[in-house]
Order: sequence, then structure tokens, then C-alpha cells
Amino acid sequence: MSDHLTIVDHPLVQHKLTLMRDKTRSTAEFRQLLREISQLLAYEVTRSLALGTKTIETPMQAMQAPVLEGKKLALISILRAGNGLLDGVLELIPSARVGFVGLYRDEETLQPVQYYFKVPESLEDRLVIAVDPMLATGNSSVAAIDLLKQAGAKNIRFLCLLAAPEGVKRMAEAHPDVPIITASLDSHLNEKGYIVPGLGDAGDRMFGTK
Ligand code: URA
Repeated sequence: MSDHLTIVDHPLVQHKLTLMRDKTRSTAEFRQLLREISQLLAYEVTRSLALGTKTIETPMQAMQAPVLEGKKLALISILRAGNGLLDGVLELIPSARVGFVGLYRDEETLQPVQYYFKVPESLEDRLVIAVDPMLATGNSSVAAIDLLKQAGAKNIRFLCLLAAPEGVKRMAEAHPDVPIITASLDSHLNEKGYIVPGLGDAGDRMFGTK
């Protein structure tokens, strides 16, 4: 595994991911599992956050105790499926600032086009965690990171549930400075750009739109 890609191989993550992949899972079960797995992934993606100390008093004595240092981090959901990951991550980091990037694919050019962009101020001073469950072709992820960098972000991580080798390669070429954290590196993309074996359309499964 390279520095650019971290696969979270924790048994709980792997077990929950298997349950999510199963096509017989209901929308409610899928959503609940996504919430749980997002928290475990959030634990990993924040592993290297900087700590300072502050003085507190325990019932026994005063102590210098560790606290997170620096500006609140920014979570950026890549719409719409990103919102599923966002909810769980926010439960673990409730004071994070939140932004949204909306992109659709132009059917003629096949390129991602921005339709919504709203992010917290001072992105340049924050750890920015972009979330999208599926890193497939990488086209929308690369475009979203382009936009975040244009908005000033300098320290970005990309959190997803599943990644395809094609998407990881594309991201590594376009944004080698952005580490990817995922629960699984799957086999390949099919001709429609779906991850195989994957879990199907993440948005449809979490929102029950199919
Ligand atoms: N988006 C999805 O929801 N699923 C895939 O397999 C690929 C992209």
C-alpha cells in the first residue's frame, strides 16, 4: 500500500462493508451500516490530527491534557452520495465545518460540470476532508478537489468507502498530495463506470431511489 492510499482493514469495517455489499440489504439497514462504517473511517482519517494541551482539573488534581489544536476541520460532501458518509463522520466530529460540492456529468463532453459550491471560510487554514462513498473513474473526485484547491484548500484528504484502481490512479496523477482513505480497493470498473464487485449505486441504495 502506498502513502497515497490507505485501506482500513479493521475487522469491524470489513464486516460492515460485506453486509452493505449484499444486495438483499434494505435501505434502512444500508443507511444504518453506512452511518456506523463512516464513524470508523472518520477515526482513521483523523488519526494524525495535531494535538496541543490545556490545563484542566480532574477531581484528583490539575493536569495538562491533550486537546485538538488549530482551526476546526472542514468536511466537504460531494453530492449527493457524499451526504451518506457525511452524517456518520459528523457524529464523531460534531464541531466540524461543512461544505458541499455539486457536480453533474455533461452528456456531450462527459466532463463534470459544477452546479453547486458552498464551502466554509478560511479553507487554507483547515484540514479539509472530502467525502464521497465511491471513487470510480475519479473524474468527479478530481474535479471536486480542483475546486477545493481553487478555493484555497491546501491540506486535503479524500475519504471513500470503495475505490476502483482506475480512480485511485487518476487521483494519484492529478492530486498526488491528497491521500485517499478507503475501506476497500475493488477489482475494476465495468463498462458503465460501476465498481466491481462494488455495492451498486451508492446514492440509490442509501436514499432508496431505485
Ligand atoms: N457510483 C456508484 O454509486 N457506484 C459505483 O459503482 C460507481 C459510482
